[in-house]
Amino acid sequence: MAKKQGQKNGVKKVSKKTEKVRGICRACGRVVELPNHKGRCECGQGLIARGGRVVRIKETPHGCLEMDAATTISEPPVVVPGEPEKRSRKRTDGKLSGLDAAAQVLADAGEPLDAKTTVERMLAKGLWETAGKTPPATIYAAIIREIAKKGDASRFRKAERGKFTVAK
Ligand SMILES: [Zn+2]
Repeated sequence: MAKKQGQKNGVKKVSKKTEKVRGICRACGRVVELPNHKGRCECGQGLIARGGRVVRIKETPHGCLEMDAATTISEPPVVVPGEPEKRSRKRTDGKLSGLDAAAQVLADAGEPLDAKTTVERMLAKGLWETAGKTPPATIYAAIIREIAKKGDASRFRKAERGKFTVAK
């Protein structure tokens, strides 16, 4: 009697295209590619990408286990204790690297700023130039990467949600 269930009832939106989002695992620092905006890092951390390329941790371990494995693009950075950090590439046009400019803006601000505001000030002050499409996402990821890599030695600290400040 009952007809084979068609697509009418309980239709789920299934996107045929797998959109892959690349980001950085905040737990281990690996660069990973997430199928359909989420996946599980090799370190076991569940990751969710929102707003383009930003990768966030899904807190529940249970949720993590149900996720597909993310594709590891690069291994976590190896930090050798005591090894002096390589200086960022010298620029010849008087501009700073994105991270240097962000550190300066945050130090000047004296309060936590989100990535968008930080980038706006970097550009307004002429500290930085970019041709990137999503500079706030780029800077956000770079700051997260530095924190993941250097920990307490990082110039940056996470403040309230989505905001950063500089280490005191
Ligand atoms: Zn990880």
